[in-house]
Amino acid sequence: MALSRRRFLHTASCTGTWLALNLGHTANALAADNNALQWQDLGAGLALIQGAGGAVLVVDGKDGVALVDGGNTRSASALLALVKSHTGKQPKLLFNSHCHRDQIGCNQTLGKQGATIIAHENTRLWLTTEILSKWEHQVYPPLPTEALPNKTFYYDSETIEFNHKLNYGYLPQAHTDGDIYVHLSEQNLVCVGDVVSASVYPLVDYATNGWIGGMITSLTQLLTLCDNNTRIIASSGVVNKAHVQSQLDMCSAVADRIGTAYYKGGSLVEFLADKPTAEFDAKWGNAELFLRMAWEGTLPHVTEIRRFGKRA
Ligand SMILES: [Zn+2]
Repeated sequence: MALSRRRFLHTASCTGTWLALNLGHTANALAADNNALQWQDLGAGLALIQGAGGAVLVVDGKDGVALVDGGNTRSASALLALVKSHTGKQPKLLFNSHCHRDQIGCNQTLGKQGATIIAHENTRLWLTTEILSKWEHQVYPPLPTEALPNKTFYYDSETIEFNHKLNYGYLPQAHTDGDIYVHLSEQNLVCVGDVVSASVYPLVDYATNGWIGGMITSLTQLLTLCDNNTRIIASSGVVNKAHVQSQLDMCSAVADRIGTAYYKGGSLVEFLADKPTAEFDAKWGNAELFLRMAWEGTLPHVTEIRRFGKRA
């Protein structure tokens, strides 16, 4: 599979190929990683940390510190030190937007300290088992018990008061089958993990039951939380409502083409040869991995795919 460097870095960032990348890293590289963390003050006790794998939202205030996602494992110590230096505290609450390695790096440290770790139940289940990711040629081991989410929910939404009103809910089977959003309505900000991709084509990780129809449903749901001023924090960067709409439009068009190709009876090779994303590549880059994963992920959803495609 030919991947551009840009796409490879996105893939590594998104899904935890950090494990493979990490095998050869040196003390100097580790120091560089730590120095690469960027803290951005967002006001009202909120801050964004980037450079730790997936983006991390810090929510500081009278109730303590909460994090939405925890970056990757190799950045965890530096990330928590950075949080401590700005807030004087260790986080008491952590959300996992999904089960990938770029989001769960602080789980073990904070879990041991007694923090509440909130995630969808499917994310907890993935983290209790070995994950075979065929498309990455990678096996991810289960996490130790203390690193697992200890407060989970199912196919609905909940709200807690922790410095701000934090509403969190399920995003149906999109990037994985355990994606959640965390919405701070009073701050007009929503964290969306990897369901939204900031710059390159999104990934529908069929190894953890993501699929393009679920991504269309989830993006449609997210748009109802947003207005033109909403700050949408994806693992790969901060975007606005128009960007989410453009991702939805692109995914709807691709779902339509996948559905047509499935029912026509073509192969993946033929589908790729037809360049089904030609009009979107200038904005989103190399589509190959996205298309391969969207195609594979549609296999268990053959009877549903054309329903999604009709929105295009
Ligand atoms: Zn991910």
